[in-house]
Amino acid sequence: MRLTVLGSGSSGNGYVLQNDSEALVIECGMPVMAMKNALGFNIRKLRGSIVSHGHGDHAKYISKYSVFAPVYMSEGTAEETRNNGKHGIVRMKPLETVRIGGFYVIPFDVHHDSKEPFGFLIRHDEIGNLLFATDTAFLKYTFPKLTNIMIEANFDDGILDGNVKSGKVHPVLSKRIRQSHFSLKTCIEALEANDLSAVNNIVLLHLSDDNADENMFRKAVESHTGRKVCVAKKGVEIEINKEL
Ligand SMILES: [Zn+2]
Repeated sequence: MRLTVLGSGSSGNGYVLQNDSEALVIECGMPVMAMKNALGFNIRKLRGSIVSHGHGDHAKYISKYSVFAPVYMSEGTAEETRNNGKHGIVRMKPLETVRIGGFYVIPFDVHHDSKEPFGFLIRHDEIGNLLFATDTAFLKYTFPKLTNIMIEANFDDGILDGNVKSGKVHPVLSKRIRQSHFSLKTCIEALEANDLSAVNNIVLLHLSDDNADENMFRKAVESHTGRKVCVAKKGVEIEINKEL
């Protein structure tokens, strides 16, 4: 299974998981053309899209994606994005498994400043158990038998403090960031709370342009987990499989 990053961060989020016969999109925050490109214009492969929450950088293009295949989200996200009851929109309930082609998706509640935000545990025969968690201040769950992880590492406390001091980041924004996003430290703590012995890939998501450092983040997570770590950026493609 191949993961293609359409975008990761406040300017737009989108991830495509695909093999030769089917595809699942995570987040509808990048234009449909980017998704079509990633699929080699084989749009019939698309089984569905899942959206974590209603902020524009994750949800802006829901109505464009739902033309091609159902888009799954919480009731709160459907309300927040004014998609409730619309054709092609499917509501998910926390901790209830939804089958999308060969993908089995379990949504779970996370902590963010939006209406009913979700993280996802995604199971597929080829990828095993993939954890997807973004835009959350913390994770209250741990997850069994993970084989791949996509997780937010938005900011570093020290870099953010420095940016507040220098005036680059307003203190109010800094407070909002801390209350609704994963820091590098909380990302590492969340990873370490799980059994990582079968994890092949850790993909870091949604790094802040101002308050993060790609190399420092990758090295820090690598050294704490002993796993292969990469940073999600537009155009990045990696193999996400159950076996190495
Ligand atoms: Zn958000």
